[in-house]
Amino acid sequence: MSLIVQKFGGTSVGSTERIKNVAKRIARWKAQGHKIVVVPSAMSGETNRLIALAKEISPMPDPRELDVVASTGEQVTIGLLSMALMELGLKAKSYTGAQVKVLTDSAFTKARIERIDENRMRADLEAGYVVVVAGFQGVDAAGNITTLGRGGSDTSAVALAAALKADECQIYTDVDGVYTTDPRIVPEARRLATITFEEMLEMASLGSKVLQIRSVEFAGKYKVKLRVLSSFEDKEGPGTLITYEDDPKMEKAVISGIAFSRDEAKITVMGVPDRPGIAYQILGPIGEANIDVDMIIQNAGVDNMTDFSFTVPRNDYAKTMQVLEKQVKGHIKASDIRGDNKVCKVSLVGVGMRTHAGVAGKMFRTLAEEGINIQMISTSEIKIAVIIDEKYMELAVRALHKVFDLDQPA
Ligand code: ADP
Ligand code: ASP
Ligand code: MG
Repeated sequence: MSLIVQKFGGTSVGSTERIKNVAKRIARWKAQGHKIVVVPSAMSGETNRLIALAKEISPMPDPRELDVVASTGEQVTIGLLSMALMELGLKAKSYTGAQVKVLTDSAFTKARIERIDENRMRADLEAGYVVVVAGFQGVDAAGNITTLGRGGSDTSAVALAAALKADECQIYTDVDGVYTTDPRIVPEARRLATITFEEMLEMASLGSKVLQIRSVEFAGKYKVKLRVLSSFEDKEGPGTLITYEDDPKMEKAVISGIAFSRDEAKITVMGVPDRPGIAYQILGPIGEANIDVDMIIQNAGVDNMTDFSFTVPRNDYAKTMQVLEKQVKGHIKASDIRGDNKVCKVSLVGVGMRTHAGVAGKMFRTLAEEGINIQMISTSEIKIAVIIDEKYMELAVRALHKVFDLDQPA
């Protein structure tokens, strides 16, 4: 008998019919004698709807109140799913994050889980209940409702699995595993039977939303056995297992996957003096405004002047420009500040890069052949990322997928 945490994403619980199907799947696992904790997301589109409602009232909603609203989608699905389980004759009980409790810090809309009290869940599991816990939400030390950032139910599930020392955490979604790239963009994409934790971490951080980045970090920290599966197949297949050790015996492709993200904006501060402290003067106020800077390039200066470029999340573009205009431009006497929020990031990921040279060259040649200009480049041991014009994103991903032999064999 195993203890399994099963997370069901928004599409998987998108209608009462689908919730009933999810209940049937859970009942099958329960009938095999397993202890089950279930973590549903809100019904698909619901969290977007709630956030839009908040923005109709207030363009920049108060974060504490936004979390009060945004967290409610999951309260609906835990109740509905518990009812559906009871209709099948199972014992089931639902809990909100605060009831469990899932203790987080107080960073509303992007809170981090600090501790989970598993006593109540354990007692229920012992008594034969399926325990249904709301994803995406928690409570801070002062009792305020918090949410974990978009896609945060993945993190709820992995954190619960870690706290309960579960045998496996299963993430059920609308695709049957992690693919070489988003199968909605490249129909030839292939499901990966396994992906290393490091690669999954890069894929998630570079934009593959199949798993929220924090869920992968959590899984790595506590070595949670994590699997991505489809909730749309009658009998679940093997899905994709996240592995913690790279099996040297396995013949590995150089590139495991391609990630991409439209959530990018590029800013160039032109004509600034090329002297010590300039990066700090530009990026300091941006960091203080709580904006994450990603790629940074400082060009070689001419006549002691230089240009300085960096990227920020697209959502923070307007705020970044404001900070630069108000706090930086006059101060460092930049000649101009140029922004472009129509760029995207395309990245190759693979542990095979450690032992194979020439990946970057092949990537750049492929993009050149497609007439795509590279605006910025950043690399690490197992990834190469480029910033390009957003309108070429799909073309770039498809071309790279083919050139690096990731396409499904015909
Ligand atoms: P859920 O609501 O179940 O959490 P998400 O929409 O958050 O589902 O994540 C699943 C989606 O992630 C898929 O429908 C797919 O379009 C997208 N996706 C992006 N990159 C990948 C990838 N490499 N492999 C599989 N799916 C991916
Ligand atoms: N419902 C939340 C969202 O849409 C959390 C999740 O689906 O994981 O972001
Ligand atoms: Mg998701």
